[in-house]
Order: sequence, then C-alpha cells, then structure tokens
Amino acid sequence: MLQQTQVATVGPYYECFMRRFPTVEKLARARLDAVLKQWEGLGYYSRARNMHRAAGEILERFGGRLPETKDELLTLPGIGAYTAGAVASIAFGRREPVVDGNVTRVLCRLCRIQDDPKKSAVQKEIWSLAERLLPAARPGDFNQALMELGSEICLPRSPRCDACPLNRMCQARLHGDQAELPIRSARKKIPRYTVVVGVIRKQGRILIDKRKPEGLLGGLWEFPGGKKKRGETLEAALRREIREEIGIRIRIERRLTTVDHAYSHFRIRLHAFECVYVSGAPRCGSCTDIKWVRPTDLNRYAFPAANAEIIRALRAQ
Ligand code: SF4
Repeated sequence: MLQQTQVATVGPYYECFMRRFPTVEKLARARLDAVLKQWEGLGYYSRARNMHRAAGEILERFGGRLPETKDELLTLPGIGAYTAGAVASIAFGRREPVVDGNVTRVLCRLCRIQDDPKKSAVQKEIWSLAERLLPAARPGDFNQALMELGSEICLPRSPRCDACPLNRMCQARLHGDQAELPIRSARKKIPRYTVVVGVIRKQGRILIDKRKPEGLLGGLWEFPGGKKKRGETLEAALRREIREEIGIRIRIERRLTTVDHAYSHFRIRLHAFECVYVSGAPRCGSCTDIKWVRPTDLNRYAFPAANAEIIRALRAQ
C-alpha cells in the first residue's frame, strides 16, 4: 500500500483491509472484486491485483507463509527489488539493501554522484553502494535508519546538514553542492487527454462496464466512454465512443460534471454527460462485463476515483 502513497493516506485503508482480509488465506480466497472494492480510492490498482495474486501464490507455493529470501520474494507478483529488500531485511533480518527515493537522495549526496539516478546505470551503482554499506548486524534497522535520514534530515530542498550524523563524511556537503544533488534531467511533458463518459439510463437503471483485468485500472467498473479525438465536439465523441465500444445509440440530455484527474504518467479532464438509451444491444468492445444497475447499487462496485466523483455528482442531484 505504501508504494507511491503516503503513510497518512494509507493508515485507514490498512486498518480496514486487515479487518476484512486478516490472513493470507482469507485474501487469497476472496474475489478480486471484493479486494478492489476495499482498495477503492487508494489508486494504483495493480497493487491490489498483484497482492491478491501474490496471496494465492504464497498459499500454493509456500504453504501460506511469506518466503524469507529476497530471491523468493521477487518471484511474487508486485514485489520488486525495493519491497523484497525491505521485507527480507526488516521482517527477516536478511542482509539485503533497500533503495527508495530517500535513500537515493542520501547516497547521491553522501558519495556526490553527479548523474541522474533515474538512469539505469546510476540506479545500479546506487544499489551496489547500498549493498556495500550494509552492516552484517541489524540490516533492517540500518535500512530504516537510512530511509528515515532521507525523510527527516537529508530533505530534498533544504537538507539539515548541521543535524546530520553523516555530515563529516558527506562529499556533497564538503563541496557545498548538496542542494543541487541528486541531478534531475529535464522532465518530460505530461500528456493531457480529454475524456467523455455517459451515465446512460434505461428504465431507472444505469449502464456500467468492467475494464479488462490487466492494465491501468484493470478490473474496475466505470461509466462507458473514451478519449475525444482532435476536432470532435464532446457530444460527438461520446456518441462515437458509445457506439464503437458498447454498440448502442444514446441521446445526450445534459452535462453532469467535469472532473480533473492526474495519473502517474498523464492527466485527464473527464466530462460526464447524462444520457438516455435509444437502441441496440449493449456488448463489450474492450470491457469484460457490462450491466444495467440500480443507482442505489452503484456503491457495491469498485470504481476509479474520477468515476467516484461522477457518482457523488449524481447523488448530489
Ligand atoms: S550532510 Fe547534509 S547533504 Fe550530506 S547526507 Fe547529511 S543531510 Fe544529506
């Protein structure tokens, strides 16, 4: 849960999640829909899907116990070098390094690495450095101390060097360029898309569809729609998307709401319209399920954050 998300946000989700799925077995045997519903609003849903799959594998391949070695942990879905190192060292006392954003910053300054740590060669260098620095005793504590040093003392903008226990050996401090490290290459421009969706009604029910299990927001439910093409009006884009993706014709009644949402690699402006079903039999173009549901039942399905905003706007009416 803490991958890409702050502790303060994760706290309540963690509590609820552990109440609902207190053991690996309970999580493994739960339906993915139930897991995604519990995760709703936390974002980066691949984490929930991976955790669910990992629970199944832990049950099947490791008799229900989390493996202790980094190599075995790395075979589980959703566990990369960082998580494997953290679990192996902190939970099981294995001598494995951990490199996150905080550790990267500390090591770049401590050893005055003058290249962008996002480059894979530099990443490799930082991991090998972290491994060499790791003591044989209490590697988990050492890793946590390094992460804590980055989050509390070696701050991104104004590192508190006077309070730093490493200040005598820090190369960047010695050269006075700690504020310029780590090196950041120019950021790529984040693409923005305009998306249109329809809240389509028929005899008191609303049409929702389920995204494919893999990829962005996989396995979540949504209101049908898609990206607007250049030169199209919002309404024309919506009619086209619904015809192409769902195979039905609709009449657009009114604009319901507009939601801005940021994902990790792009941003969207999502325009939701209230629509009425006109003709055709709904079918899944790129979804895996499609349903007419009562408005009061919408809360039984897991929706991405931008769609949850649409539901709030519907309720506010
Ligand atoms: S001396 Fe300053 S720059 Fe160096 S590790 Fe400590 S806080 Fe970071």
